[in-house]
Amino acid sequence: MSETVLEVKNLSKYFPIRGGVLRRVVGYVKAVDQVSFSVKKGETFGLVGESGCGKSTTGRTILRLLEPTDGQVLFEGRDIAHLSRRALRRVRRDLQMVFQDPFASLNPTMTVGELIEEPMKVHGLYTKRERKEKVREMMETVGLDPAYVQRYPHEFSGGQRQRIGIARALSLRPKLIVADEPVSALDVSIQSQILNLMEDLQDQFGLTYIFIAHDLSVVKHISDRVGVMYLGRMVEVAPKRELYDHPAHPYTQALLSAVPVPNPRHKRERIVLSGNVPSPANPPAGCAFHPRCPKAFDRCRAERPEMIHLGGEHYVACHLFDEGAQAG
Ligand code: SF4
Repeated sequence: MSETVLEVKNLSKYFPIRGGVLRRVVGYVKAVDQVSFSVKKGETFGLVGESGCGKSTTGRTILRLLEPTDGQVLFEGRDIAHLSRRALRRVRRDLQMVFQDPFASLNPTMTVGELIEEPMKVHGLYTKRERKEKVREMMETVGLDPAYVQRYPHEFSGGQRQRIGIARALSLRPKLIVADEPVSALDVSIQSQILNLMEDLQDQFGLTYIFIAHDLSVVKHISDRVGVMYLGRMVEVAPKRELYDHPAHPYTQALLSAVPVPNPRHKRERIVLSGNVPSPANPPAGCAFHPRCPKAFDRCRAERPEMIHLGGEHYVACHLFDEGAQAG
């Protein structure tokens, strides 16, 4: 599991803010701001952060569902951030997305069979008969009874609808799936079934996942490595166990302190952050987290921290880990 399949380099996505009678661009919402990380073949890379931190926009920009403002997205060594639409179409088969709300992402006028068949049809794959066969196979693979092939999305439960969403994504036999909060709309009892299914499919098809979630316990369950985002920036990346046992960034520490620990004797001290997340239209200078950081010092207000290597696969963007920082 060491081959890098995806490398995201300084990826940015800014949305223009328009104002005045002429609707001129008066500023930008920096939803994703110079984000870098890599994903290895066969691993699950968890992307976490509070709502509005840019994690979903990052996922969509990687897949070019949103056009990047700047940066590179190297998939198997090829920069897909700058591919023409035509060239991108060929790569699309390898990169698929599973959405948070399967009900909203499934056309209610199509049957399950049509929904799962559609991506294969769009890409001109197989004969009609083969596609029908693949649909049945795919339904079985994700735990849906093929006898329901003529039913419509509203006739299924939330968990079953997410299985349809997964079958759609899988029908093209992709290499990488970006799963955007795939279980957060589901009951807790159903969440683990879908997570287990995703893990089984990963083994079966050799899939690589980027798993986006705000819930750190869900990310912990499924991820190999985790990236933490705050206000459009990546602030810490580490293997799961390292991140949960030794969080370095003050924001990660605060996030983790709010996660319930199964053993009540190992209670974590809760770190309550003051203030709200600032607007990405007007992010604070220096470290974007400084207005809320209990450990902020002068340098944090003036200088944006770069990613620092802490050893192994652990990286953090915080001046506390830069030699001589406190003196600065
Ligand atoms: Fe806190 Fe400064 Fe580190 Fe930012 S750089 S997280 S403000 S200590």
